[in-house]
Amino acid sequence: MNLAAIQTAAGLNTPIRHQLFIDGRFVDAASGQTLPTLNPHDNSVIAEVAMAGREDVERAVAAAERAFPKWSRMAAAERGRILLKLADLIETHTEELARLESLDTGHPIKDSRTLDVPRTAGCYRYFGGMADKFQGETIPVEAGFLNYTLREPVGVVGQVVPWNFPLMFTSWKMGPALAAGNTIVMKPAEITPLTSLKIAELMAEAGLPDGVVNMIPGLGSVAGQAIAEHPRIAKVAFTGSTATGRRIVEASAGNLKKVQLELGGKGPNIVFDDANLVAAINGSAWAIFHNQGQACIAGSRLMLHERIADEFLEKFTALAQSIRLGNPLDAATEMGPLTSAQHRDRVLAYTEVAREQGGRILAGGKAPAAADLARGCYVEPTIVQAGSWRDRVAQEEVFGPFVTVLTFKDEAEALAIANGTDYGLGSGLWTSNLQRAHRFARDLHAGMVWINSYKRVNPGSPFGGVGQSGYGREMGFDAMREYTQVKSVWVNVDAQIPPWYPR
Ligand code: NAP
Ligand code: MG
Repeated sequence: MNLAAIQTAAGLNTPIRHQLFIDGRFVDAASGQTLPTLNPHDNSVIAEVAMAGREDVERAVAAAERAFPKWSRMAAAERGRILLKLADLIETHTEELARLESLDTGHPIKDSRTLDVPRTAGCYRYFGGMADKFQGETIPVEAGFLNYTLREPVGVVGQVVPWNFPLMFTSWKMGPALAAGNTIVMKPAEITPLTSLKIAELMAEAGLPDGVVNMIPGLGSVAGQAIAEHPRIAKVAFTGSTATGRRIVEASAGNLKKVQLELGGKGPNIVFDDANLVAAINGSAWAIFHNQGQACIAGSRLMLHERIADEFLEKFTALAQSIRLGNPLDAATEMGPLTSAQHRDRVLAYTEVAREQGGRILAGGKAPAAADLARGCYVEPTIVQAGSWRDRVAQEEVFGPFVTVLTFKDEAEALAIANGTDYGLGSGLWTSNLQRAHRFARDLHAGMVWINSYKRVNPGSPFGGVGQSGYGREMGFDAMREYTQVKSVWVNVDAQIPPWYPR
């Protein structure tokens, strides 16, 4: 099938963008090279997408540098207006963006329509409103002096994101960066570039000046590495694996660029025996199975109080086994394929890892048998009871519809298990005991804690981790701090300073 036929078959009314977006124009890679992006439902090629190399990173940085003086000095409210217009355009293109996201990533269309697209619009709207509300301070210093701070944009920022939530993650990074007056070189993941390129098109339509955002899909090892190393990129913001995060820190050392890292997680989801079990069972299924478990904040360690474990698992397993797998473009689908075949194989391999260490497979652990899913990257919802919290499946991020069950007998044991990994991103607990809820909120080693809920995000609420889950925060005022530098300005208003060297 050619691109136009694929577009029509997917119900898309506007062109699928497949070139790099540099300096306000869609262009081929300097090398002419492309990479196919696949539909994970059947592994067919959707489009050949231009693959950025070092030369393209260079062009993108030059464009972002040229755009910086005007963009950074534009009235903040004007920058905000462009972001607000973008948010409106995203909403009017909801169906188009949702279909494209589902086609390229495997997100069920219901999720793309009701979560990915509205959250993306909501993020740009939030930061559009923020642009002229983030301000400096005046500081009470010694008599005769005025001291105030300016919040200045960092400059040209490099942003590198993974494939699990392309629409949302590009908005989390670009929203605050643009509101604060930075210009951007963004590299989406090589396997899911399509909605990022569409957003670039909508940004131009919203009136974003040429060169302010440059969208350059390509290989992490080439384009991503070039961004991390680039001497004229002032900051790199990265979401992805802990291993790549480490490489980015090393590469950033050349010009000591500012670094922000959102890395992996192994979220503890703790259910106490006084919890509302109906809510906890459904919430725990959402925590791990939404987006096929491909979420850094997934509740991937399900920790059950031993008194309720059997009852919980019986109902939880039945619920997991009833989740409807299918073509992401089908409105009835509740779980789509994983985003790539390579990743599906990695997730399935963890079933063997579990067995080798004495884990019991309570559900799933294999690809579904249905013939219409045979060519896709599907994995059944998988529940594994681990022998010990030290087992690999209880320590390593699987990043799939794969939940590791552990039991505990009291609070102290629950806390020790929950904090017993190198990660510290999302975490949560289900209980009706108010004091216990807040004790855990205080004591969990994590960037986020959800009480009687899981995986809530909002553009106003800080998002990020501790330990090997990275540093820095997205969203809210914290994100604006991350994308600005503070300058302290001293003015002698009427200070009488006796000469230090009286002559
Ligand atoms: P990944 O391999 O680290 O890739 C993430 C991005 O980095 C991709 O765009 C990738 O390019 C690029 N990259 C690879 N090598 C690079 C290098 N040497 N220099 C610069 N960039 C490079 O991660 P993934 O496996 O795709 O994504 C899943 C991971 O992301 C999980 O660990 C998950 O927990 C984490 N994650 C974290 C958060 C959070 O907010 N904390 C959110 C979502 C996901 P390619 O396109 O070539 O791969
Ligand atoms: Mg794809």
